[in-house]
Amino acid sequence: MKLKLQLIIESDSGETEVVKEVVKLQRHSLRAENLGLMLSEVKDLLHEVQKAMVTHQSTQYVTQQTSCPECGRIRSHKGKHQIVLRTLFGKLRLDSPRLYHCGCCSNEEHRSFSPLAELLTERTAPELAYLENKFSAMISYGLTAKLLAEMLPIGGEINVASVYRNLQRVAERMEAELGEEKWQFIVDRNSRTEIPKQSPYVLFMED
Ligand SMILES: [Zn+2]
Repeated sequence: MKLKLQLIIESDSGETEVVKEVVKLQRHSLRAENLGLMLSEVKDLLHEVQKAMVTHQSTQYVTQQTSCPECGRIRSHKGKHQIVLRTLFGKLRLDSPRLYHCGCCSNEEHRSFSPLAELLTERTAPELAYLENKFSAMISYGLTAKLLAEMLPIGGEINVASVYRNLQRVAERMEAELGEEKWQFIVDRNSRTEIPKQSPYVLFMED
């Protein structure tokens, strides 16, 4: 038996924009271990779908940014580079062109910008950061990296250092949101500051 999985991307108006074969599977005589999908096949499938989908979305976004929103003129290009995005379903390299601001509508005519790089300020996708942080709050960084690499198509792209860095970034952001630390909330009997509800705690664990 041969099984081919195709990804079809349609525009909002229903026009087919992309047809891509993402995975080709083959089975011969049935055995318990080849019944249905294997984990390795699912990882390949997820990675290929993710790559095609994210590439399409980012290309579409960059195309929309090419024309000036004020006058509609095409902005000049100033080369391009690639940005690396770590997602739940694999590490991706995305083309990120630099564009010049419009000469008619902007005071920053000679300055350039990268629309995609400005949109994706975090290079770890929120869902991957969420899972890394969730597991590393319960088990060690090393086990978190091993567990996610076992289940998701992120193989060697996830490691202890990246799990630690991301958790630290989230902890610092939460710490900043708490505001200035107060050593007491009741100054005197006539002036009482409301005692805040319990703040969330972030626990760091070392291997
Ligand atoms: Zn313009």
